Amino acid sequence: MSSNETATHKGQCFCGTVKIEVSGAPMRMGYCHCVDCRAWAAAPVNGFTLWEPSQVTVTEGEDDLSTFAKTPGSLRKFCRKCGGHVMSEHPAGPYIDVYSSVLPSLDFQPSFHVFHGESVLDIADELPRFKDLPEEAGGSGEMVG
Ligand SMILES: [Zn+2]
Ligand SMILES: [Zn+2]
Repeated sequence: MSSNETATHKGQCFCGTVKIEVSGAPMRMGYCHCVDCRAWAAAPVNGFTLWEPSQVTVTEGEDDLSTFAKTPGSLRKFCRKCGGHVMSEHPAGPYIDVYSSVLPSLDFQPSFHVFHGESVLDIADELPRFKDLPEEAGGSGEMVG
């Protein structure tokens, strides 16, 4: 068992009111280029780390953690005091995306790009680029350059 599988990582919102902890290793890590992630993050790409719901605990400030759901598949969680974004719940998985920037101690090792068909920022790496999502995640599985 590598240390990654037993590690815990702490994260928090922009002001520190909401604190979370994740334990173990994430199921997947990657970059999402979809227009919704970009608009929500106000950034050209979102670094995601996916966890089983049981791996993620809100340790402080749960009352200040609000949810915005533009679509039923993504429950986007943010701090109502500072507006800082923390994570997205994907109930269909079920899994939780804790944005990579929220977990400074996690060694972020993305293994693929999703929704590269909507990309505005081409990251110079050799990772697979899915046009939307892998088939196992309900996508077309189609790859783009
Ligand atoms: Zn906050
Ligand atoms: Zn996205």
